Amino acid sequence: MNATPATLTRPTFADLDPATGEVIAEIASATPAEVIDAVRRARAAQVAWGATPFDERASGLLAGVKALGARADELAQTITREMGKPLGDAQKEITSWTSGVSRTLQEVAKALEPEVLREADSETRVVRDPLGVVAAITPWNFPLGMPIELLVPALATGNTVVFKPSELVPLTGAILAECLAEHLPADVLVLLQGAGDVGAQLVASDVDMIAFVGSRDTGKRIMESASGGLKRLVLELGGKDPLVVFGDADLAAAADCAVLHSLRNTGQVCCSVERIYVEASVADEFEALVLQRAKAWKHGSGFEEGVKMGPLVSAEQRRKVVEQVQAAVAGGARLLLGGQEPDGKGWFYPATVLADVSDDLAVSRDETFGPVISLSRFDGDEDEAVRLANDTPYGLGANVFTGDLDKGTRVARRIRSGQVGVNRYLAGSPGAPWVGARQSGFGYLGSVDGHRQFTVPKSISYPAS
Ligand code: ADP
Repeated sequence: MNATPATLTRPTFADLDPATGEVIAEIASATPAEVIDAVRRARAAQVAWGATPFDERASGLLAGVKALGARADELAQTITREMGKPLGDAQKEITSWTSGVSRTLQEVAKALEPEVLREADSETRVVRDPLGVVAAITPWNFPLGMPIELLVPALATGNTVVFKPSELVPLTGAILAECLAEHLPADVLVLLQGAGDVGAQLVASDVDMIAFVGSRDTGKRIMESASGGLKRLVLELGGKDPLVVFGDADLAAAADCAVLHSLRNTGQVCCSVERIYVEASVADEFEALVLQRAKAWKHGSGFEEGVKMGPLVSAEQRRKVVEQVQAAVAGGARLLLGGQEPDGKGWFYPATVLADVSDDLAVSRDETFGPVISLSRFDGDEDEAVRLANDTPYGLGANVFTGDLDKGTRVARRIRSGQVGVNRYLAGSPGAPWVGARQSGFGYLGSVDGHRQFTVPKSISYPAS
């Protein structure tokens, strides 16, 4: 044995397969000293990286993304194994996020363009400097997509990054970090593995900014910890998104959206549809359309052909869903489909439809993050629709279906959330910012403006020439 005492005492954590509960790998967790060292190395590397021309930084990142593409099969298998989503969805996650990187880089180039302001006796150039070292802390639900969303603008603007993926998807995080890092100078991107305690140490360390995607509670903790050093923040948190269906809507289109976006990724999406308000006059018809569609959502191992939903990511996640559904039924909701925890291995849960769900239930108030379609009725009044949609501290997304586009736009303008879909799902065109309003976030991601948050403007003034 040549193990040193340090390696013998090093903490580890288990990477579990949510379809079986089996251990895929034991991962070494970063020690407090390694967190400090990672940030120190990233800080030392930042000086040269920040001075590297943008085009060179961008080509390094593009080469890294190409390397990811070359390992796409292994990556998709790893995502499905660690996180559970169907293999086809894992493949789509890889293609959609890697193919978006060149667009992001074009936006970053625009974000970094200096502005020149002139007066009679002076000329001022407003340039954008990197912030320094960014801590990127990410969740497990899009284990490749979410990190790409943070790492690319953080690095392209000239920061170095210490990246901690979720402890539920460490191998996916490691592949991403390996592919990017091999095309970047040493220590420009440093990987740390570990759970929330490592995340907390990283936030408290000598970083300049924390870029985070995850739960609202963790976001609040990060904000608190960052206040001591007035560290910059971008936080993308959870949601409790409503979908409002007025009686004059295309009900089939609304049902398609409701089912797909309640169940996609086994409901584990920050902008999932979590609450559905249907005008009472069409509620029976709408329930039937939803049921018919939801029955097609077969769950099972993500490696199985024809499966649309994998397991929930963890036992803890399933426990929360089970509790919410049981409390809803006990509280008077009608269970139209699912609702039974299957026996056997893995953290599976079936597509579940609840109707007549009242406002006071946990399933109406707390983020569910599970495959639950939650239906309530309302009287069709526009003000009431807005009141219901806004009856949450969250403000991520919302969806409105109506045959009257003016009404749809009026309601969309009054809902307090970052993005609203009118007669379609809320996802905007590329280039639009991704905004968590109210308690769904702080700052925002994507878009020229969003990328600027990874920089600080500096004015340099000269006498007029
Ligand atoms: P989710 O369950 O949606 O992943 P979390 O907020 O629990 O949401 O986790 C998101 C990321 O935040 C993970 O990488 C996790 O390890 C990390 N994390 C958890 N707690 C903390 C904390 N106190 N400080 C920093 N990071 C944390």
